[in-house]
Amino acid sequence: MSDCIFCRIAKGEIPCAKVYEDDEILAFKDIHPQAPVHFLIIPKKHIATLAEATPEDAPVLGRMLELAPRLAADQGAAEGFRSIINTGRHGGQEVYHLHLHVLGGQPMPAMLKY
Ligand code: AMP
Ligand code: ZN
Repeated sequence: MSDCIFCRIAKGEIPCAKVYEDDEILAFKDIHPQAPVHFLIIPKKHIATLAEATPEDAPVLGRMLELAPRLAADQGAAEGFRSIINTGRHGGQEVYHLHLHVLGGQPMPAMLKY
């Protein structure tokens, strides 16, 4: 996906404030942080949305979840964090490359405001 911004970040074509990287996962700070700690964990493989993930993607999704608390603690959110995956139009997804938001560093507000 040459026109996908997160694929381009994963390939190093666009800079990011890297938090973690391995063969299949990258984590980087959100460019518009909504909490003192706010970073994104992405699979390097292009998966557009959680709704398009397949059973073969389960291991990388599991690894993303397992990494979240460790990276959150590293980043200064040792007392807890919120993790969010926005999916599709009603989910408020803006970037169509699956990403896990990790937010913390202070108590989070009420989960949903309608
Ligand atoms: P979502 O609404 O879940 O798709 O969230 C997309 C997130 O990506 C937003 O919080 C943006 O601030 C963030 N974002 C967009 N472009 C970049 C970028 N180049 N580097 C870091 N974060 C980005
Ligand atoms: Zn992509």
